[in-house]
Amino acid sequence: MSDPSRKKAVIIGAGLGAIGAAVPLAAAGWQVELFEKNDHVGGKLNLLRKDGFSFDLGPSILTMPQVFEQLFATAGKSFADYVPTRPLLPHWRNFFEDGTHIDLYPDAKRTVELNPALTAADRADLERFLTYSRGIYEKCRHSYFDLGLDTAWEMTRHHGLLTALFGFDLFASMDAGVGRYIHHPQLRAILDFFVKYVGSSAFDAPAVLNLLPYIQAEFGLLYVDGGLFELARGLRRLLEELGVTIHLKTEVAAILQDGRRVLGIRLADGSEAAADLVISNMEVIPAHRRLLGETQGELRRFKRFEPACSGLVLHLGLDREYPQLAHHNFFFSGNPRAHFRAVFRDKKLPEDPTIYLVAPARTDPSQAPKGCENLKILPHIPYIQDPPFSPEAYAALKERVLDKLERMGLEGLRRHIVVEQMWVPEDIERLYYSNRGAIYGVVSDRWKNLGFKAPKKSDRFANLYFVGGSVNPGGGMPMALLSGRQVADRILQTSTSEEV
Ligand SMILES: Cc1cc2nc3c(=O)[nH]c(=O)nc-3n(C[C@H](O)[C@H](O)[C@H](O)COP(=O)(O)OP(=O)(O)OC[C@H]3O[C@@H](n4cnc5c(N)ncnc54)[C@H](O)[C@@H]3O)c2cc1C
Repeated sequence: MSDPSRKKAVIIGAGLGAIGAAVPLAAAGWQVELFEKNDHVGGKLNLLRKDGFSFDLGPSILTMPQVFEQLFATAGKSFADYVPTRPLLPHWRNFFEDGTHIDLYPDAKRTVELNPALTAADRADLERFLTYSRGIYEKCRHSYFDLGLDTAWEMTRHHGLLTALFGFDLFASMDAGVGRYIHHPQLRAILDFFVKYVGSSAFDAPAVLNLLPYIQAEFGLLYVDGGLFELARGLRRLLEELGVTIHLKTEVAAILQDGRRVLGIRLADGSEAAADLVISNMEVIPAHRRLLGETQGELRRFKRFEPACSGLVLHLGLDREYPQLAHHNFFFSGNPRAHFRAVFRDKKLPEDPTIYLVAPARTDPSQAPKGCENLKILPHIPYIQDPPFSPEAYAALKERVLDKLERMGLEGLRRHIVVEQMWVPEDIERLYYSNRGAIYGVVSDRWKNLGFKAPKKSDRFANLYFVGGSVNPGGGMPMALLSGRQVADRILQTSTSEEV
């Protein structure tokens, strides 16, 4: 039963952005209702179980646990009581075509001591790089992460022109920033690939994103025991305890408008839900197109918010183990620059992609039958193009990926596949309504948007907000969650419903 004395927020979607907003609002006494088209809470945090194999369909790397801890703390709860996590070491194992492999640890000392390919000079380089990385994080921490500033203009007002122009290394590329410190080409390729967290190119993303290695080194890289979907389960429990109403398998078809305000939503079945404000976890561009009915011409103002990359996601159950794998692995392209160019500039399926491969049974035997392996294999590829890639082109890329993995040490991989499932960008678009199948929201590109995503507040409606990977601070689980919290903070700071 709705209580007219309490303000009501309606949230479209139940991904991490939505949850990040729902928890603080509900904890502050708001009535909150989530409307999600799929049958689970968590959005891209999703699960496939088949023949004794468990696959985390979306994210597999958890960083910045403090963002989750803070969310639970707003509700007076402890993250650890809901979601069991453990730190992973090494963070990543990196395989190169020349047979080298380099394990990445949070500190330069171990990374160099435990890798014969690296020297004392590389350690000094890495230490200087991590100091630079930390400097960028410290500069952005309050304005971008705590306050949730949204545009270059807001950042300039906050920090002053000089810091905004030069302090964030916005005009150099991420790769150029790495190259200033790191001489070892493979170490440089590894640090460049932190750009994977935002689905962008190290040659186009601004160097401000070089804060990512410090964040991972400082706050750790975690696994959720039982698989990442346990995180979604823990969050759902929290929402339910706070009294948030969750409508699953319920698609939102329109946002109801009246002048400069929104009134609520219309569902696909034609029924309506009124609210004091609406928060959309549907991405900014699809929501304006499909829920607000904007034309192509009107949508042009969002042109700079191009989608981040998508992925060809292969889930393989194997009837054997590959003990050379760590939990998280990267198999690098022989030419990482050409890989980035193909995906982000030429918008082609890469000939020799860099491949992310997660082997969770390495640390959690519950994920695959004994003696078996459940692999998720993810080369980044362009978002859906006009015209789209053909099924044959995707199939050919899959073969190139398997060839590469077999060549780089996973001998006989094809022969040992007993379960197989593949997702292409069209599947991702269909499932989550993400813009052209993007998996990390908006691309970070210093020429297009200086790394800024869309603002969280609507430019047309006083009481409509956006959360998730298409708004600041962007894609990746902690960032999507944080965008929601930032929106809730803004709403709660505004005292009357007329002002929100
Ligand atoms: C294969 C893959 C691997 C990834 N790996 C990692 C990783 O290792 N680490 C990491 O941090 N991040 C990773 N990510 C990215 C991460 O999953 C996302 O950045 C994050 O989960 C996005 O959350 P969100 O709230 O922005 O959106 P979503 O999770 O997409 O949530 C939006 C929700 O809204 C629903 N919705 C949309 N429109 C409507 C509508 N009209 N009506 C009702 N419901 C609607 C959708 O169904 C969806 O559930 C990965 C993503 C993928 C796909």
